[in-house]
Amino acid sequence: MITPVMPTYGRWDLAVEKGEGCYLTTTDGRKFLDFTSGIAVTSLGHCHPHVIEAVTKQAGALWHSSNLFRIPGQEKLAQRLVENSFADTVFFNNSGAEACELSLKVARKYQSTVGHPEKYRIIGCNGSFHGRSFATLAAAGAEAYLKGFGPVMDGFDHVAFNNLNEIRAAVTPETAGIIVEPVQGEGGVRAPSADYLQGLRALCDEFGLVLIYDEVQCGMGRSGKLFAHQWAGVEPDIMAVAKALGNGLPIGACLATEKAAVGMTAGSHGSTFGGNPMSVAAGNAVLDVMLAPGFFDKVNDNAKYLWSTLDGLVGQYPKLFDSVRGQGMLLGVKCVVTAGDVVAKARDKGLLVLTAGDNVLRILPPLVAGKAEIDEAVGILTQVASEWPAT
Ligand SMILES: *Cc1c(COP(=O)(O)O)cnc(C)c1O
Repeated sequence: MITPVMPTYGRWDLAVEKGEGCYLTTTDGRKFLDFTSGIAVTSLGHCHPHVIEAVTKQAGALWHSSNLFRIPGQEKLAQRLVENSFADTVFFNNSGAEACELSLKVARKYQSTVGHPEKYRIIGCNGSFHGRSFATLAAAGAEAYLKGFGPVMDGFDHVAFNNLNEIRAAVTPETAGIIVEPVQGEGGVRAPSADYLQGLRALCDEFGLVLIYDEVQCGMGRSGKLFAHQWAGVEPDIMAVAKALGNGLPIGACLATEKAAVGMTAGSHGSTFGGNPMSVAAGNAVLDVMLAPGFFDKVNDNAKYLWSTLDGLVGQYPKLFDSVRGQGMLLGVKCVVTAGDVVAKARDKGLLVLTAGDNVLRILPPLVAGKAEIDEAVGILTQVASEWPAT
């Protein structure tokens, strides 16, 4: 018999009840160190006091109005994102998929507005993830997620990630733009080589293409800068963010330059809930914390420590683990043994971590995790490794 909750997830038997900082407790009283952060969402930890205060205050004032009216908190959040990024303008949505979907729409609309309606195709990379809507599934091109859902939406081509020659060769007169995760999350926690993002920028400039970065997972501080591409020193034309933007209140955003958004005029897009007073109150509270002086210094210091302790673990157990990868607090351990088994054994010992594609153990601590929590987590992984059955 089908469960009342549609069974689209292989759920862990762990009923969550309360979160506090880096820890989650379950209805049966178990306590876990949460290095999943709700899949890169609760980056300030669970129940961050500043976010609680902002959202609680907003809840007593106004929940929803619609985008037919001006929403001061939305204007403020847009202004702050613009001030802290390449972008000139922002549209708020409710999820990462929607933010990516709109990014694709803006790219096509740009080309058609500047006189190139024939340019509608978008190049995406193998191993990407952009969400579960028809267009975002087609953009990522992962067959496992597309299977059974009918004809794949037209207009997407795919190339290997981190390969400039291949992506260059895939550009045609019909190409409108490129969508890339600056650090691939779901696909296996893959950071590209240092010159890849610069190469994409140069390619897009050469052919008049729109460069879209999907920073839904690697953005909003996860990489150790507010946006991951800022490490590379080059900027996209459009960017999708979501996950950590509201620390758990559903909010996504599509950021764009004035040039790229030239076709986005009244009536060209909309959302009932997008950027409503509650979600933007959370978003503003998140930025209050992340933009405070010294926040990222601490994150980067701890991220470096996490990398080196994981690297030590890999060196100690080369029969189980291959290497550390990723950037900032978006780290992966490429496993020799099955990553999912490591996740299960760690969970039994009170540590929550994830898998990613390519048999990778994905580690997403809250950005506020310090050396004590990192030691605890890697200690549990070390214990799991030390008890691993000999093969
Ligand atoms: C999670 C994710 C999405 C989809 O976000 P949803 O909020 O689940 O729709 C899109 N792109 C990337 C890179 C993601 O990690």
